Amino acid sequence: MAKTAVKLGCETVQIFSRSPRGGKAKPLDPDDIAKMKQLLKAHDIRPLVIHAPYFINLASIDEAKRSYSIEVLAEDLTRAEALGAGFVVTHIGHKHPDEPDGGGQALCRVIDSLNQVLEAYSGPVKLLLENTAGQGRELGSAFEELGKLVHVFPRERVGTCFDTSHAFGWGYDLSDPDKVDQIFRAYDKHVGLDTLEVIHLNDSKMSLGSRRDRHAHIGQGGIGLEGFRAIVNYPGFKPDMPGIMETPKDTPTADEDNLATVKALRNSSKHGK
Ligand SMILES: [Zn+2]
Ligand SMILES: [Zn+2]
Repeated sequence: MAKTAVKLGCETVQIFSRSPRGGKAKPLDPDDIAKMKQLLKAHDIRPLVIHAPYFINLASIDEAKRSYSIEVLAEDLTRAEALGAGFVVTHIGHKHPDEPDGGGQALCRVIDSLNQVLEAYSGPVKLLLENTAGQGRELGSAFEELGKLVHVFPRERVGTCFDTSHAFGWGYDLSDPDKVDQIFRAYDKHVGLDTLEVIHLNDSKMSLGSRRDRHAHIGQGGIGLEGFRAIVNYPGFKPDMPGIMETPKDTPTADEDNLATVKALRNSSKHGK
C-alpha cells in the first residue's frame, strides 16, 4: 500500500485494516508496519486513515450483532494505533424498518455502543463518524442528526468525516459553487467544522436527494468540477485537511486521473480565471 501511495503521489492515504465485508482480522506483521511507516514518513504522506468494515451497525436491535460491531470497532481502533494511523472512520448504522422516522431509540443505541467502544479502547486514535446518503434507513445523513451524536462525546475522542457523494445523495447540492459555502456553514452550525478531520472526495452517479450512493470519478458525476473546485478550496476547513478519494477503479489509470484532477482544482480560482 505504502509503495503504491508513493508511486501515485498521494499526500494522505486510507486503508481497511481487515476485510471490509467480514471475517476475522489477519494479525499485523510488525516488520511490515515498520517498513510502511518509514515509507509514509519519508514521503510525508499523512495522516494514515483506517476505514472500519461496512457491516458495522452500532444501531442494530439484534444485541449479538450490535456487540460484534462494538468489538470490531474497538479492535480496529487498536489496530489503527499499531499501524500509526490517526483516525478510524466508521459508518454509524441503520434503523430497523419497524422503527418510527424520528429514530430517537436508534440514536440511543448508537450512543450506548459508542460509549462501549470508547471504554474498550482508550488510546489516542480518534474515531470519526461519517455522514451517509440515507440509503436503507442509514443514520447520520442530516447534519442535525450527525451533530446530535458527535456532541455527546469528548472532542478529542470522536470527530467526523464528510463524504461529498453521501451529502449529495441526501440532498445537499454541492454541485452549485454558491451553495457550497452555505452547506459547510450549516455543517458548522449543526456538527461543527472543528469536529471535521477527513473529507471523502467522491463524485456521485446518483441524483441529488436520491438517498443512494454510487461513487463517480471526480467531475464526472452530479457534483461536477465546479462543485469540487469550491469544495477543495473551501477556506473554512482546518489547515491540511486530508482528502481521500474512493472513486471507481475501472481503468488502469483511474486513480492517477482522479488525483491529477483534484490537484489541478486545488488553489485554482473559479471557472479557470
Ligand atoms: Zn465510508
Ligand atoms: Zn460512499
